[in-house]
Amino acid sequence: MAKEEYRIIEAEAVVPYELALGGTVSNFFDYLKEEKIMGKRCRKCSRVLVPPRSFCPRCFEEMDEWVEVGQEGVVETWVYINMPFYGQVIKVPYVSAQIRLDGSDSGLTHLIAGFDLTNVNKVREIVKLGGRVKAVWSKEKKGNILDIAYFEPVK
Ligand SMILES: [Zn+2]
Repeated sequence: MAKEEYRIIEAEAVVPYELALGGTVSNFFDYLKEEKIMGKRCRKCSRVLVPPRSFCPRCFEEMDEWVEVGQEGVVETWVYINMPFYGQVIKVPYVSAQIRLDGSDSGLTHLIAGFDLTNVNKVREIVKLGGRVKAVWSKEKKGNILDIAYFEPVK
């Protein structure tokens, strides 16, 4: 079979959208404005999830008990991003991580920063699996996840 040739047009599509946050995430962001990190506890399995969910994805129980968790936690996994890609919001280089906050049973995805990120080998000396990090708050709160500016390693 002969290889088909296709004529193409290169274009860029922009898809503006709005996402309804719902009550649980809205409340989570309102708490962040007060510099509180809140999760929800499942009454059946007792897990505390941060970010909170309206129902437990394991038990399918409605989660209605708010619990304040620590502003420090442990790095469960992390990745160093130094290549730009389409739609990227954060300027490279940066470190994205899963952080299990004290008193929480799930990982919160956020940034680890507060030090020189330009050399990955130096970053690897600072960011460690199981290493402790703490929240650094943005001065101006907007009611979104970046009210926590980033997490920084605890010395
Ligand atoms: Zn549960």
